[in-house]
Amino acid sequence: MKKEEIIMENSYQIARILDIPIKIHISFLLVLPFFAWMFAIQPEPFGFAGIESAFIKYILSLMTAILLFVSVLIHELAHSYFSLRYGGSISEITLYLIGGVSAMEGELRDPSNEAKMAFVGPFSSIIIGIFLLLLNYVFSPAISLSDGNPFFLMIFILGYINIILGLFNLIPAFPMDGGRILRAFLAQRMGFVEATEKAAFIGKILAFAMGLFGLFTSFWLILIAFFIYMGASGEEQQVRNRYEKYN
Ligand SMILES: [Zn+2]
Repeated sequence: MKKEEIIMENSYQIARILDIPIKIHISFLLVLPFFAWMFAIQPEPFGFAGIESAFIKYILSLMTAILLFVSVLIHELAHSYFSLRYGGSISEITLYLIGGVSAMEGELRDPSNEAKMAFVGPFSSIIIGIFLLLLNYVFSPAISLSDGNPFFLMIFILGYINIILGLFNLIPAFPMDGGRILRAFLAQRMGFVEATEKAAFIGKILAFAMGLFGLFTSFWLILIAFFIYMGASGEEQQVRNRYEKYN
Protein backbone atom coordinates (compact mmCIF):
# COMPACT_ATOMS: atom_id res chain seq x y z
CA MET A 1 0.00 0.00 0.00
CA LYS A 2 3.00 2.31 0.49
CA LYS A 3 3.16 3.67 -3.03
CA GLU A 4 -0.58 4.31 -3.21
CA GLU A 5 -0.53 6.00 0.17
CA ILE A 6 2.20 8.37 -0.98
CA ILE A 7 0.30 9.09 -4.18
CA MET A 8 -3.02 9.70 -2.47
CA GLU A 9 -1.68 11.75 0.40
CA ASN A 10 -0.67 14.80 -1.62
CA SER A 11 -3.44 14.71 -4.20
CA TYR A 12 -6.18 17.21 -4.94
CA GLN A 13 -9.48 16.54 -6.62
CA ILE A 14 -9.99 18.50 -9.84
CA ALA A 15 -13.05 16.83 -11.35
CA ARG A 16 -15.53 13.98 -11.16
CA ILE A 17 -16.08 11.82 -14.26
CA LEU A 18 -18.27 8.67 -14.38
CA ASP A 19 -18.74 9.47 -10.69
CA ILE A 20 -15.02 8.81 -10.12
CA PRO A 21 -13.00 11.50 -8.35
CA ILE A 22 -10.18 12.70 -10.64
CA LYS A 23 -7.21 13.90 -8.64
CA ILE A 24 -3.85 15.40 -9.45
CA HIS A 25 -0.80 14.66 -7.37
CA ILE A 26 1.42 17.52 -6.28
CA SER A 27 4.33 16.12 -8.37
CA PHE A 28 2.17 16.71 -11.41
CA LEU A 29 2.36 20.47 -10.87
CA LEU A 30 6.14 20.28 -11.29
CA VAL A 31 6.00 17.95 -14.25
CA LEU A 32 3.50 19.96 -16.27
CA PRO A 33 5.73 23.05 -16.71
CA PHE A 34 8.71 20.74 -17.26
CA PHE A 35 6.93 18.94 -20.10
CA ALA A 36 5.82 22.28 -21.55
CA TRP A 37 9.44 23.44 -21.47
CA MET A 38 10.59 20.21 -23.16
CA PHE A 39 8.11 20.76 -25.98
CA ALA A 40 9.27 24.37 -26.30
CA ILE A 41 12.95 23.46 -26.78
CA GLN A 42 12.51 20.38 -29.00
CA PRO A 43 12.80 21.01 -32.74
CA GLU A 44 10.03 19.84 -35.06
CA PRO A 45 8.45 17.36 -35.48
CA PHE A 46 8.53 16.73 -31.70
CA GLY A 47 8.50 20.27 -30.42
CA PHE A 48 7.94 23.92 -31.14
CA ALA A 49 11.51 25.30 -31.00
CA GLY A 50 11.16 26.49 -34.59
CA ILE A 51 8.30 28.88 -33.85
CA GLU A 52 9.52 32.47 -33.81
CA SER A 53 6.90 34.04 -31.58
CA ALA A 54 7.79 33.11 -28.00
CA PHE A 55 4.18 33.62 -26.93
CA ILE A 56 2.76 31.14 -29.47
CA LYS A 57 5.61 28.72 -28.78
CA TYR A 58 4.95 28.56 -25.04
CA ILE A 59 1.16 28.57 -25.35
CA LEU A 60 1.32 25.61 -27.75
CA SER A 61 3.87 23.82 -25.55
CA LEU A 62 1.71 24.25 -22.46
CA MET A 63 -1.41 23.13 -24.35
CA THR A 64 0.45 20.06 -25.60
CA ALA A 65 1.57 19.20 -22.07
CA ILE A 66 -1.98 19.61 -20.73
CA LEU A 67 -3.49 17.57 -23.57
CA LEU A 68 -0.87 14.88 -23.01
CA PHE A 69 -2.18 14.46 -19.49
CA VAL A 70 -5.76 14.54 -20.79
CA SER A 71 -4.66 11.60 -22.98
CA VAL A 72 -3.36 9.77 -19.91
CA LEU A 73 -6.65 10.51 -18.17
CA ILE A 74 -8.64 9.06 -21.10
CA HIS A 75 -6.43 5.94 -20.94
CA GLU A 76 -7.21 5.57 -17.23
CA LEU A 77 -10.91 6.27 -17.76
CA ALA A 78 -11.03 3.47 -20.34
CA HIS A 79 -9.73 1.04 -17.68
CA SER A 80 -12.17 2.43 -15.13
CA TYR A 81 -15.20 2.34 -17.41
CA PHE A 82 -14.55 -1.30 -18.29
CA SER A 83 -13.95 -2.23 -14.66
CA LEU A 84 -17.19 -0.57 -13.53
CA ARG A 85 -19.15 -2.32 -16.28
CA TYR A 86 -17.85 -5.71 -15.20
CA GLY A 87 -18.48 -5.42 -11.51
CA GLY A 88 -15.19 -3.88 -10.36
CA SER A 89 -14.92 -0.70 -8.36
CA ILE A 90 -12.77 2.37 -8.86
CA SER A 91 -12.32 4.65 -5.90
CA GLU A 92 -10.36 7.37 -7.73
CA ILE A 93 -8.00 8.22 -10.58
CA THR A 94 -4.83 10.12 -9.75
CA LEU A 95 -2.53 11.79 -12.27
CA TYR A 96 1.00 11.90 -10.96
CA LEU A 97 4.64 12.23 -11.97
CA ILE A 98 4.83 9.83 -14.88
CA GLY A 99 1.27 8.84 -15.61
CA GLY A 100 -2.00 7.91 -14.08
CA VAL A 101 -3.17 5.43 -11.49
CA SER A 102 -6.65 4.01 -11.18
CA ALA A 103 -7.21 2.89 -7.62
CA MET A 104 -9.19 -0.33 -7.66
CA GLU A 105 -10.39 -2.43 -4.84
CA GLY A 106 -9.19 -5.87 -5.84
CA GLU A 107 -9.23 -7.38 -9.29
CA LEU A 108 -12.04 -8.52 -11.50
CA ARG A 109 -13.00 -12.08 -10.65
CA ASP A 110 -12.80 -13.38 -14.19
CA PRO A 111 -9.21 -13.40 -15.57
CA SER A 112 -10.44 -12.85 -19.12
CA ASN A 113 -12.26 -9.68 -18.01
CA GLU A 114 -9.15 -8.64 -16.10
CA ALA A 115 -7.13 -9.05 -19.31
CA LYS A 116 -9.66 -7.03 -21.32
CA MET A 117 -9.70 -4.31 -18.68
CA ALA A 118 -5.90 -4.07 -18.88
CA PHE A 119 -6.06 -3.99 -22.67
CA VAL A 120 -8.66 -1.21 -23.12
CA GLY A 121 -6.26 1.44 -21.75
CA PRO A 122 -3.45 0.93 -24.29
CA PHE A 123 -6.06 0.24 -26.95
CA SER A 124 -7.72 3.62 -26.37
CA SER A 125 -4.30 5.35 -26.47
CA ILE A 126 -3.47 3.70 -29.78
CA ILE A 127 -6.89 4.55 -31.27
CA ILE A 128 -6.56 8.20 -30.19
CA GLY A 129 -3.01 8.21 -31.60
CA ILE A 130 -4.07 6.83 -34.97
CA PHE A 131 -6.98 9.27 -35.13
CA LEU A 132 -4.74 12.28 -34.41
CA LEU A 133 -2.04 11.17 -36.87
CA LEU A 134 -4.70 10.70 -39.55
CA LEU A 135 -6.12 14.13 -38.74
CA ASN A 136 -2.67 15.60 -39.10
CA TYR A 137 -1.99 13.66 -42.28
CA VAL A 138 -5.22 14.76 -43.95
CA PHE A 139 -4.99 18.43 -43.04
CA SER A 140 -1.26 19.09 -42.79
CA PRO A 141 0.79 16.23 -44.26
CA ALA A 142 4.10 18.08 -44.15
CA ILE A 143 4.73 18.10 -40.34
CA SER A 144 6.88 21.08 -41.09
CA LEU A 145 6.43 24.55 -39.70
CA SER A 146 7.57 26.23 -42.87
CA ASP A 147 4.50 25.09 -44.80
CA GLY A 148 2.32 23.73 -42.03
CA ASN A 149 0.20 25.08 -39.24
CA PRO A 150 1.77 24.83 -35.75
CA PHE A 151 -1.59 23.62 -34.44
CA PHE A 152 -1.25 20.52 -36.60
CA LEU A 153 2.27 20.01 -35.33
CA MET A 154 0.67 19.74 -31.89
CA ILE A 155 -1.82 17.21 -33.26
CA PHE A 156 1.09 15.21 -34.69
CA ILE A 157 3.04 15.26 -31.41
CA LEU A 158 0.02 14.17 -29.38
CA GLY A 159 -0.84 11.42 -31.88
CA TYR A 160 2.70 10.13 -31.87
CA ILE A 161 3.00 10.14 -28.07
CA ASN A 162 -0.37 8.39 -27.65
CA ILE A 163 0.77 5.53 -29.88
CA ILE A 164 4.07 5.24 -27.98
CA LEU A 165 2.13 5.37 -24.71
CA GLY A 166 -0.18 2.57 -25.86
CA LEU A 167 2.60 0.34 -27.19
CA PHE A 168 4.86 0.95 -24.19
CA ASN A 169 2.09 -0.01 -21.78
CA LEU A 170 1.68 -3.31 -23.59
CA ILE A 171 5.22 -4.41 -22.62
CA PRO A 172 4.55 -7.40 -20.31
CA ALA A 173 6.28 -5.77 -17.35
CA PHE A 174 3.89 -6.14 -14.41
CA PRO A 175 2.32 -3.93 -13.03
CA MET A 176 2.11 -2.21 -16.42
CA ASP A 177 -0.96 -3.10 -18.50
CA GLY A 178 0.90 -5.70 -20.58
CA GLY A 179 2.03 -7.36 -17.34
CA ARG A 180 -1.58 -7.45 -16.11
CA ILE A 181 -2.62 -9.15 -19.33
CA LEU A 182 0.20 -11.66 -18.76
CA ARG A 183 -0.95 -12.27 -15.19
CA ALA A 184 -4.55 -12.82 -16.30
CA PHE A 185 -3.25 -15.31 -18.86
CA LEU A 186 -1.21 -17.12 -16.17
CA ALA A 187 -4.14 -17.02 -13.74
CA GLN A 188 -6.12 -19.28 -16.05
CA ARG A 189 -3.50 -21.98 -15.44
CA MET A 190 -2.53 -21.50 -11.78
CA GLY A 191 -3.61 -19.77 -8.58
CA PHE A 192 -3.97 -16.01 -8.59
CA VAL A 193 -1.17 -15.43 -6.07
CA GLU A 194 1.21 -17.67 -7.99
CA ALA A 195 0.28 -15.97 -11.27
CA THR A 196 0.95 -12.57 -9.65
CA GLU A 197 4.34 -13.78 -8.36
CA LYS A 198 5.37 -15.07 -11.77
CA ALA A 199 4.21 -11.89 -13.54
CA ALA A 200 5.97 -9.73 -10.92
CA PHE A 201 9.18 -11.74 -11.37
CA ILE A 202 9.08 -11.16 -15.14
CA GLY A 203 8.20 -7.50 -14.48
CA LYS A 204 11.28 -7.09 -12.27
CA ILE A 205 13.57 -8.70 -14.84
CA LEU A 206 12.20 -6.45 -17.58
CA ALA A 207 12.49 -3.41 -15.28
CA PHE A 208 16.12 -4.31 -14.58
CA ALA A 209 16.85 -4.67 -18.30
CA MET A 210 15.05 -1.41 -19.00
CA GLY A 211 17.05 0.40 -16.32
CA LEU A 212 20.30 -0.99 -17.70
CA PHE A 213 19.33 0.10 -21.19
CA GLY A 214 18.33 3.49 -19.76
CA LEU A 215 21.84 3.98 -18.34
CA PHE A 216 23.09 4.30 -21.90
CA THR A 217 20.10 6.05 -23.41
CA SER A 218 17.66 7.99 -21.27
CA PHE A 219 17.24 9.06 -17.69
CA TRP A 220 13.46 8.74 -18.09
CA LEU A 221 13.76 5.05 -18.82
CA ILE A 222 15.72 4.55 -15.57
CA LEU A 223 13.00 6.40 -13.68
CA ILE A 224 10.23 4.35 -15.29
CA ALA A 225 12.17 1.11 -14.68
CA PHE A 226 12.49 2.08 -11.02
CA PHE A 227 8.73 2.66 -10.75
CA ILE A 228 7.98 -0.66 -12.46
CA TYR A 229 10.35 -2.53 -10.14
CA MET A 230 8.85 -0.90 -7.03
CA GLY A 231 5.34 -1.41 -8.38
CA ALA A 232 5.94 -5.10 -9.07
CA SER A 233 7.27 -5.70 -5.54
CA GLY A 234 4.54 -3.63 -3.92
CA GLU A 235 1.63 -5.17 -5.73
CA GLU A 236 2.95 -8.70 -5.35
CA GLN A 237 3.09 -8.13 -1.60
CA GLN A 238 -0.39 -6.60 -1.60
CA VAL A 239 -1.89 -9.58 -3.39
CA ARG A 240 -0.15 -11.99 -0.98
CA ASN A 241 -1.46 -10.08 2.03
CA ARG A 242 -4.98 -9.84 0.68
CA TYR A 243 -5.23 -13.53 -0.14
CA GLU A 244 -3.64 -14.68 3.09
CA LYS A 245 -6.41 -12.89 4.92
CA TYR A 246 -9.03 -15.09 3.27
CA ASN A 247 -7.14 -18.40 3.43
ZN1 LIG B 1 -3.15 1.50 -18.43
